[in-house]
Parts: sequence; structure tokens; C-alpha cells
Amino acid sequence: MPDLSTDFRLPVACPNCGSHRMRVSQVKNPDDKVFCASCRRYVCLYHEAETVLQQGPGSDSEALIEKAANSPSD
Ligand SMILES: [Zn+2]
Repeated sequence: MPDLSTDFRLPVACPNCGSHRMRVSQVKNPDDKVFCASCRRYVCLYHEAETVLQQGPGSDSEALIEKAANSPSD
């Protein structure tokens, strides 16, 4: 499978390993899944990551990621 993904930094850390480096497809569709670049855990959807990027770190962002990361990824 060709590597068509790109890395970006998320203000909220991966709930699994604490990394801030995330990976998403280069297309960056709102419904594309964002994975931790370090441990490959599903973190959230890209539109959720965009929300976090816009509002920055904080309890709301952390709650959003925690909720998304604990929901079924498929
Ligand atoms: Zn991780």
C-alpha cells in the first residue's frame, strides 16, 4: 500500500503513549481517521483533530480526544 499519509502535531497527546505526533491521509477528509504516528493507535477523526487544532490544548480538547479515541474506530 502506498504511503499517502502525512504527520502533524496535535495539541492533545495520544491517550495510549503520550505522543503528540499524529498521522492522517494526505487528502485530509473530515472523516479520515487520525492515528498516533508512534504507536498507531486510533485517536480521532480529522474533523475532530481540526477542532482541537483550532481551540488548542485544554480540558475541552482532551475530553474530545478521549471520547473519540474510546469510540469504535470502524
Ligand atoms: Zn500513541
